[in-house]
Amino acid sequence: AKKLGRRTWQCYETNMGARVRRRQFLLGRLRRALLGTEFHLHYQPRIELASGAICGWEALLRWNCPGDGAVSPAEFIPVAEDSGLIVPIGEWALREACRQFVSWRNQGLEPGSLAVNLSPRQLRAPQLVERVAAILEETGMPAAMLELEITETAVMEEFDSSADILTRLSDLGVGIAVDDFGTGYSSLAYLRRLPVDKLKIDRSFVRALEDGPHDVAIVRTIIELACTLGLTVVAEGVETEAQLRLLNGARCHEMQGYLFSRPVSPASCVQLMHAGAGL
Ligand code: C2E
Ligand code: CA
Ligand code: CA
Ligand code: CA
Repeated sequence: AKKLGRRTWQCYETNMGARVRRRQFLLGRLRRALLGTEFHLHYQPRIELASGAICGWEALLRWNCPGDGAVSPAEFIPVAEDSGLIVPIGEWALREACRQFVSWRNQGLEPGSLAVNLSPRQLRAPQLVERVAAILEETGMPAAMLELEITETAVMEEFDSSADILTRLSDLGVGIAVDDFGTGYSSLAYLRRLPVDKLKIDRSFVRALEDGPHDVAIVRTIIELACTLGLTVVAEGVETEAQLRLLNGARCHEMQGYLFSRPVSPASCVQLMHAGAGL
């Protein structure tokens, strides 16, 4: 029995223990990263399908953890979210992205609009609206050129308080985009009651487009209903010409994805802006 107990413990130690230790490790490093210069932003262009031109950029966090290399947002954002560290990290990202965007405009570039992700925790943090307003003021970022992306799930949880916060953000003049649309339980009928400007169709639907007519019909229906509600529709994760053709046929407004460009460094963004259209 003793032996068995030990083996059970070992099993626990190697599987669960390793995961717990990894989280603890990342959490400690995230705290330190916040004080230093380990974070930076990459930007992925968004393309207007009608013109083929870049119409905006999404800021995406990158983290170079010393001794561990680049850690994927898919791994560290949840740790930051659970610990609440996403609030100061996200605020840093918003300020940095606005600063960068204004600097591009001052160089005579026309970057279009800037999208920044807001996590569920940030949405519920005290004084979010005041902080966003302060960052706009401090950086000189035009509110009308900023879009805040909030996941469908974050909006649907605590619908009433989300609606209140989104309304106050919208009153600042910033746009609101619903991210990862289709992965949660919201319906367009609910979204109608929110000051939402844009819908980002989740990558999983885009990937399914080539599977057959049913999947195409689903995306078509989402786009038609969104248009009826006056929303702009963005397709995420577009990787192939075939997907692009189907999205064009479905009258999707904008697209983002590796087909056009991965998220890239600010220097590469400037090159892309100079190169102009090119789908
Ligand atoms: P997201 O907001 O849905 O961002 C899109 C993700 O899809 C990005 O992953 C992007 O690199 C990736 N992507 C874009 N085009 C393609 C494509 O054609 N194919 C494939 N396979 N992937 C594509 P990334 O940068 O790893 O970010 C993952 C998630 O981490 C984001 O998903 C977002 O939820 C979160 N995140 C990133 N930066 C921030 C931030 O500053 N604040 C907050 N709160 N969350 C962030
Ligand atoms: Ca996003
Ligand atoms: Ca609005
Ligand atoms: Ca998304």
